[in-house]
Parts: sequence; C-alpha cells; structure tokens
Amino acid sequence: MSKIYIEQHNLNDTEAIQAELEGFLQQTFQSSREVETWLKNLSTFDDELREALDGHYIDFQAHNQDQQAKEAFEHDQEKIEPLIKTYTAKLDEKLMSSPFKDELDPKQYGRFLRSKENAMELFREENVTLEVEEDRLATRYFELTGGLSVDWNGEEKTIPELFPLLEDPDREIRKSAFDKIFQTLSKVEHDLQEIMDKLMKLRKQKAANSGLSNYRDYMFKKYERFDYTPEDCKQLAASIREYVVPLAEKIKKQKKKELGVEVLRPYDRSAVPKDRTPLKPFAQRDELVERTSKALGQLEPRFSELIDTMNEKGMLDLETRRNKSPGGFCTPLPVSELSFIFMNASHTHDDMMTLFHEMGHCIHNDLKRHLPLSYDRNTPMESSELASMTMELFSIDQWDHFYSKEEQKQAKLDLLRDIVTFFPSAIRVDQFQHWMYENPDHTQEERMAKFGELSRELSDGVIDWSGYEDARNKEWLFILHIFEVPFYYVEYVIAQLGALQMYKNYKEDPAGTLARYKHALALGNTQSLYEVYEAAGIRFDFSGEMIKELMEFLEEEISAVEQMKV
Ligand SMILES: [Zn+2]
Repeated sequence: MSKIYIEQHNLNDTEAIQAELEGFLQQTFQSSREVETWLKNLSTFDDELREALDGHYIDFQAHNQDQQAKEAFEHDQEKIEPLIKTYTAKLDEKLMSSPFKDELDPKQYGRFLRSKENAMELFREENVTLEVEEDRLATRYFELTGGLSVDWNGEEKTIPELFPLLEDPDREIRKSAFDKIFQTLSKVEHDLQEIMDKLMKLRKQKAANSGLSNYRDYMFKKYERFDYTPEDCKQLAASIREYVVPLAEKIKKQKKKELGVEVLRPYDRSAVPKDRTPLKPFAQRDELVERTSKALGQLEPRFSELIDTMNEKGMLDLETRRNKSPGGFCTPLPVSELSFIFMNASHTHDDMMTLFHEMGHCIHNDLKRHLPLSYDRNTPMESSELASMTMELFSIDQWDHFYSKEEQKQAKLDLLRDIVTFFPSAIRVDQFQHWMYENPDHTQEERMAKFGELSRELSDGVIDWSGYEDARNKEWLFILHIFEVPFYYVEYVIAQLGALQMYKNYKEDPAGTLARYKHALALGNTQSLYEVYEAAGIRFDFSGEMIKELMEFLEEEISAVEQMKV
C-alpha cells in the first residue's frame, strides 16, 4: 500500500499525541492576540491529525481485509479519536472560560464561538466510550457489505460490478442480477439487523446522557441544524409527495413505454430499451480521468489542473475490486492541500456522474484552502452537497468529451429524470430515520415494515413490486449513511433544490453563475447557509412553492430534451 497522505505525527504513539494536546491545555493567555495564535496553532495541529486519521480511514476502506490497515484504523478509533474528543471538550472549556474570548472579533469568531458553546452543551465524557463502540459497529457494517461477492455465471463479481447489469436491455439478465444482489444481501442480513439494533440502543443512550429526549434532537444539535427543524423535514416530505411524485409518475410511465413492457418491475428501473445500448462513457479508468479533466477545464482551467494533480499523486481510487468497501466519498487532506476521491466505478454513466460529483467536493475544498481555521473549512453538508450536485449539472454541456450527440441527449434525459425520482426516494430515507429514533424501541420486523410503508407512501405507484415486497423492505440495508452517518440524507434533498436553482441561472448566465458558485464556495463555513446560498445567487428555501416552481422548470427541460432532434 503506497501512502498518499502526509503523516506528521505517529498516531501509534498515543502518549505523544496526548502530550501535545496537554501542551495546548497548559498554555496560558495574557491577551486576546495570544488566544488567536493559540487557536491558529490548534487548528494546524487538528489539520495534521485529521490528515493522518483520514489517511488511515482511506487505507482501510480501500483494503478492508488488510490486517495492517485494519489495525491502524481500529487503533485510531479506539485510542486516538476518544483522546481527541476528550481533549477538545477540555480545550473548549478553557477557551470559553477565558475572559479574552469576549475580545475576539465577533465578525471573525462569532459563529465559531457559538459552535463551541453548542458542543459544550452536548458533550458528555460517557458518550466518548459509547462512540468507540458505535464506530466499531459501523466498521463491521463495511466489512460485511464490502466482503460480499457473487457467483455470476462462474465468475466471481462484487456487488457494484452487478449494478451495470441492471441497465442491460435483456430483461432476464436484469432480473437475474437483481435477484442475485438481494440473495447475496440475505447472507448478511441477520448480522446487519443486529448491528442496527445495537446502534439504536447506543444512540438512545447517548441522547439521554446529553439530557435530550431522543437521538434525533441530539443529531440536529450535533449537526448544528439551526436553520430548520424536524417538522420542516416532515413538511418537505409532504411537499415532495404533492409536487414531485406526480412528475415521477409521468417519467416512470414514459419509461414503461420506452421499454415496451406491460408492467414496470423493480429490476426495470435502470433498464435501457432494447434498441439502445447502455451508455458507456469510458472503457477504462484513465479515459475517465482524462475526459473528466478536459470537461472540467472547459469550465475553469484550475478545475482540470486540480484533477490532473490528484491523479498524478495517486489521489483517485476509482475502480471497484474485491475487498474494497462500497460507496464513494471525497476527503480533504488539509496538509497535502489536496483531496482524495474514493469510488467504485464499473464503467457506467453513473460513474461519470459520481466523478463530477466528487470533483465538486474537491473544487470546494480547493476554494476553501485559504481559510486559516479548520472550523471555517468544515462546511455543513447542505453547502458541501450544493457544491457537488451543482457540478453534476454544470458538467452537462461538456459531455461531448464522452458521448455522441444522440448519447448526450439520452444522458441528459436520464440525469434530469433521475433528479426527479431521487427526491421521493431520498426523503423516504430521511423520514425513515426520523421514525426510527422517535420510536427507538421498535423491533426488526417493525423497522422493515416501516421502510416498506414509507416507500409505498412516497411512491408514484408505477412499479409493480408484487413478489418483491421483501426486497423493498430491505433496501435500506444498502444505505450506509443510516449506519455510519445517521441523519445525513435530507441534505441531498435540500442541496439538490439549490443545485437546480444554480442550473436554472447557469442556463441564462453561465459565466456569472460560475463566478457566484466559486465565490459562495470560497466562503466555507464563515457564514450561515442562508448567506452562502445568497452569495451563490439562489435561495436556501425548501418550501412547497419553491419545489413546485423547480418541478415546473424540470418538466419543461425534460420535454425540451425529449423533443430535441439529433
Ligand atoms: Zn457528496
């Protein structure tokens, strides 16, 4: 395993790390200037630790059966992370009890100090131990799901390798791939359910320790979601049902017509009609990188320079393989001043979109680089996902690097339609989590039934699930967020609404919109979500009216593409 990250501290030496942290704690201040210097140094130390920790996380995700990678990662989880949490609480207390903190410039430090106050209210030493166990359970989830392999006509394949088969024009192949995926999942289903049970208990306890009545309230506070409430999320689900589901229904019916089938079945969702071949934007990894670089360069030379540098430095782990965890993510490496992309490409259109998405995160990280405090670079997910989801839409006009005119038309249709059908499916995952933690004592059966119920409630009714009810109830087991980063999902919905506004603006004024995009992203976490969205020239707004307006826009866009002559 070659190392792509910089390790300035030996994390194996727990005592040395503790001594460093203790050093920060023992420092005394004579002025607010000294507090500022202390904060700056602490932030640098935090960056150094973060890069090493995330580096170990990357190693483990990339080789989840490698003993050394596993040990390093587990050591971090069990020794280093708890140490950092405990010391962060002590350091917060030190800062907040210093009289000099009131002399700090409120414009620069106001948000930071409020965040520290919030963290102090939430912190309980006993939760640190619970979080070690929580992390252990999430790791187990990755081991179980990442270790799965399937026998496909005598050939061993990973689950992500089966996904392209769901697009196959041959219905029998699709059906058989779909069945295989769920049969394979069944092998670990029992274990995954047990993991979830344990997580439920643990998370309930954490909330109680912090004096909150449920884990949902705990997470809203932890994520500093002060700009919206759980009730707003419920309202958002209702608006999606009202304004998005009818359009989703129209799209699915169109799909049924294009496929020429009597009924649309679960394994037809990504299918490509018989007279078409599935989109293949690239044949091998290097082609994907090269073409994405060209496309990004057309938007902004710096964007392509960024992906080229990342590629040269080994920061792009793109292809699927056995013993690599599923999913995709982008991690900033603050010392290297670059980002790392992890994904599981199997040469489909989705892979191309995932890379544009993750590059949106990398571009965001690049634009935030100038901010000295790590706190200011640590953006909430509602703005991080705005960066990435907008990049998917900005990339549309550059797809000639991958596709013929006719393929571009198809790809664009697919993207716009997928955005519509994504909303109900995503809000379902959000509402499922609300339910889980509002009813923490539920049984495994109730949990499965609830997911099925929400799926039906938010469904457009076009797909016939008969005979597949069980698979429908189980779909959530594939969603790693529910296990690893609970409550992280509604952000995708909120950010997608922002990204659609960006796209609408971009169509009218590409240069101006791109400039505002960069300007807004460069703000990082120094301003509120309302202000960041405003700087991007859009509104942080997920009201029914906004959704209605955007669905009308999408419907027009989709029909314009459908009528396009190529
Ligand atoms: Zn993302």
